Amino acid sequence: QYFVRETMHSLADDLARDLGDRLRLSEPVTRIEHSSPGVLVVSAGDTVEARTVLVAVPPATVTELAFAPALPAGLGRALGAWESGAAIKILVRYAKPFWRARDLSGMVMWLEPPGLFACDAGKDAEHAALVVFVGGSLALRWRDLGEAELRAEVTGRLEAALGPDAGDVIDFSLRDWTGDRWSGGAYSDLIVDVTATDAERTILAGAPPVYLASSELSPSFPGYVEGAIIAGRIAAQKIIAELQAPG
Ligand SMILES: Cc1cc2nc3c(=O)[nH]c(=O)nc-3n(C[C@H](O)[C@H](O)[C@H](O)COP(=O)(O)OP(=O)(O)OC[C@H]3O[C@@H](n4cnc5c(N)ncnc54)[C@H](O)[C@@H]3O)c2cc1C
Repeated sequence: QYFVRETMHSLADDLARDLGDRLRLSEPVTRIEHSSPGVLVVSAGDTVEARTVLVAVPPATVTELAFAPALPAGLGRALGAWESGAAIKILVRYAKPFWRARDLSGMVMWLEPPGLFACDAGKDAEHAALVVFVGGSLALRWRDLGEAELRAEVTGRLEAALGPDAGDVIDFSLRDWTGDRWSGGAYSDLIVDVTATDAERTILAGAPPVYLASSELSPSFPGYVEGAIIAGRIAAQKIIAELQAPG
């Protein structure tokens, strides 16, 4: 529905620019010590001392972090209401967007198997590509296929939907996100505790000085990049207001 003007990577670069050398990559936080005067954020190589911390990872990933003391039980339960989803993303490149010549959009949604979706991801006729998402239980089944078998499953279905030209693939690249160490396997997070009706409110309240933000908790576009930016801004504004509050 919406595209970024350049790329997702350029968006991350733009967001990071103001941070300069304060941004640390490839430095996972292993432990967060928190008490009322402040926090200690510990990674393998360093410790950062601060007044507050905003943990901006999906709810299911927060539970991978060690907190000392442990987060309040209610907050722990609220975080457990989500389970990471499962997705495999595939880019299938073609010499030309043959589907457009037949006045097709290139978007395919399969009822069988459920969890398979394709759409036109080519910016122009010289860079023709379909992006294919395999999600949910289908991703968990297909991740065990070798690349050749997965490719045959996908291109066979694209041929059936869009015609024989769909078999003339010039490049097939895939990224298996299921069980990804840092995102859990996003993007199709599941709410696994339907009784946790106050989970969002509990997570948004956090356990000051520990605050939490993620796309899942965004008032708009939850589950998307836009939602992550909105949720992050709201949480940052709240923290700034609290730090600036008199007393
Ligand atoms: C295959 C796929 C396709 C997608 N396609 C789209 C799309 O087309 N459009 C769209 O809007 N959204 C898309 N999404 C969803 C989008 O990626 C997420 O909604 C968004 O990234 C969520 O942002 P976030 O900041 O809340 O969390 P994340 O992006 O998960 O960011 C959390 C960050 O924290 C880091 N991290 C985790 N643990 C630690 C730790 N212990 N220490 C330090 N850092 C840590 C992670 O490495 C990660 O960089 C897609 C997701 C997937 C998986």
